[in-house]
Amino acid sequence: MKATMLYGPRDVRFEERPDPTIIQPTDAILRISAACVCGSDLWPYRGIEPTTQPRPMGHEYVGIVETVGSAVKNIQPGQFVVGSFATSDNTCPHCQHGYQSSCEQREFMSAAQAPLLRVPQADGTLVATPHIPSENLIPSLLTASDVLGTGWFAADAANVKPGATVVVVGDGAVGLLGALSAKQMGAERIIVMSRHETRQKLALEFGATDIVTERGDEGVARIKELTRGLGADSVLECVGTQESLMQSIRATRPGGHVGFVGVFHGVEIPGGEFFFSHVHLHGGPAPVRRYLPKLIDLILSQKIDPGKVFDLRLPLDQVAEGYRAMDERRAIKALLLP
Ligand SMILES: [Zn+2]
Ligand SMILES: [Zn+2]
Repeated sequence: MKATMLYGPRDVRFEERPDPTIIQPTDAILRISAACVCGSDLWPYRGIEPTTQPRPMGHEYVGIVETVGSAVKNIQPGQFVVGSFATSDNTCPHCQHGYQSSCEQREFMSAAQAPLLRVPQADGTLVATPHIPSENLIPSLLTASDVLGTGWFAADAANVKPGATVVVVGDGAVGLLGALSAKQMGAERIIVMSRHETRQKLALEFGATDIVTERGDEGVARIKELTRGLGADSVLECVGTQESLMQSIRATRPGGHVGFVGVFHGVEIPGGEFFFSHVHLHGGPAPVRRYLPKLIDLILSQKIDPGKVFDLRLPLDQVAEGYRAMDERRAIKALLLP
């Protein structure tokens, strides 16, 4: 098969690779129906995360099960499945507490920007849909694999409750779907911080009530103005930089919650300020597997349409253009079709 490899900064190649095979008896092989480029793929693409040797790319996937290993009990060939970017047995203590992305057997997926994919811990990692879904639902199901699951976790970790005032920091796919998640959880006011017109429009479609274009201290001042000087009940931090985290903590009211899902790069939390803030902080790699059954239900019953975050569709062999378009912010998220 031909699959996606990253050789170094801005060097994505679609090239001949061996077909994946069953290695462990708990593995499954999927024929990918759709994959995509993730905002987090841009960290190594831009060279901010070093690439020491060519690496297979892609961790968001849906597909049809081709074969399963001898120990796989629940997942069967022919099923349409959605999996998380982190594998999980779904039975260890961390999984039972709902933190499947800290599973004792966790592996981070890669190599999904390909026609075929090996998924370890298939029974615990994959969730099958009741029927083969219609083609138009596939992009939305694909978002459940990471960006929707991650946005949902951001809202859950930020303790979004009915009637809450919510702020979303970050207007990438995760932030936009964080706004959608907060809406589903009954938030009354959803303020999205964004400077890009197409992203602002999508945020409003997903349930945002206000857009704030200011950043940093000015952004915090604007949030305070909009919340009678209090700050928000819940803030979703979907970027992962020092500035975005401090903006999130400072925009939260005393006693409020920040849910952080932007992978931290060079972030330090100043202890003194944090101590006196009275703000709860919770986040990390989203336990997407915990939410998959609910998210799949919401998508199949067409209560939500998160697939709208894909504003670029490409055949898989043009994957390099997907990276370029996202890097240059010409696209929010690129869908790849084998
Ligand atoms: Zn991702
Ligand atoms: Zn586990």
